[in-house]
Amino acid sequence: MSDLTSSTPTIQPRVALITGAAQGIGRAIALRLAEDGLDIAIADLALQRTKLDGVAEEVRAKGRRCIVLECDVSQEEEVQRMVQATEEEFDGLDVMVANAGRLLVKTMIDSTLTDLDNVFGTNVRGVFLCLRAAAQVMIKRGRGGKIISASSVSGKKGTALNGIYCASKAAVRSFTQALASEVGSHGITVNAYAPGPIDTPLLQDSADALEQLFGVPDGKAMIRDHVGTPEDIASMVSFLAGKESGFITGQTITIDGGGWMD
Ligand code: NAD
Repeated sequence: MSDLTSSTPTIQPRVALITGAAQGIGRAIALRLAEDGLDIAIADLALQRTKLDGVAEEVRAKGRRCIVLECDVSQEEEVQRMVQATEEEFDGLDVMVANAGRLLVKTMIDSTLTDLDNVFGTNVRGVFLCLRAAAQVMIKRGRGGKIISASSVSGKKGTALNGIYCASKAAVRSFTQALASEVGSHGITVNAYAPGPIDTPLLQDSADALEQLFGVPDGKAMIRDHVGTPEDIASMVSFLAGKESGFITGQTITIDGGGWMD
């Protein structure tokens, strides 16, 4: 009689890499994809190491494998190393979530080129580098994949005090459409999430800046009235990363409780 146990092929868990995963939306995505059964690589700036280690413990407590990577996504070599380390540790990369982003609350007429370079460094260069590296690995491996990025409702409409940030998030939407058109034949979908206000450290910093710099009264109360949770975004990413979203690509999906309707 044949030994069924030894002949049963081991099903290898899918693998996700999430940037900006030390806190906020990135952390929630890492935990949700771990619950979905994926092995997880989390990355963030070196200064976020303690928080990253905490997230890794939470992922492992869900029974998944997790590695921690220090990476500034605006740096080409660091992104290459991050993707390579994930691929080597887990023998592949199935889901890339280019979540890392930074905000600037400032009028356009007061903004400097340094402001532009800083925000675009993470939000545009960083997303470009992550998407390119992930797509290259997925094509080489030949098992398809899911590439997902953080845009914003701010990427769909320019607003006061946010001009540079809005432009950077519009670029994410364009990258999403362009790459989706290029890699669909390899079984890779490319999408983005466009959150409205979500309760994270980034939003609190934004409320503080609105109050302190521009005297917007009680920015926090304004936010409290219409705010989502990181888990609201993570559940959309779970769907986009899963097998049932295969016919959705090139989309930048608004998640904001109906504040903006496409
Ligand atoms: P957050 O500031 O709480 O977390 C962002 C993480 O990205 C931080 O841990 C930070 O260290 C990391 N990061 C910043 N620059 C980096 C870099 N160069 N390399 C690597 N990591 C870097 O922000 P969040 O609210 O969780 O936002 C996550 C994403 O969602 C961002 O791209 C943000 O623009 C987008 N977004 C957020 C909101 C919101 O209301 N919170 C709304 C729309 C879009």
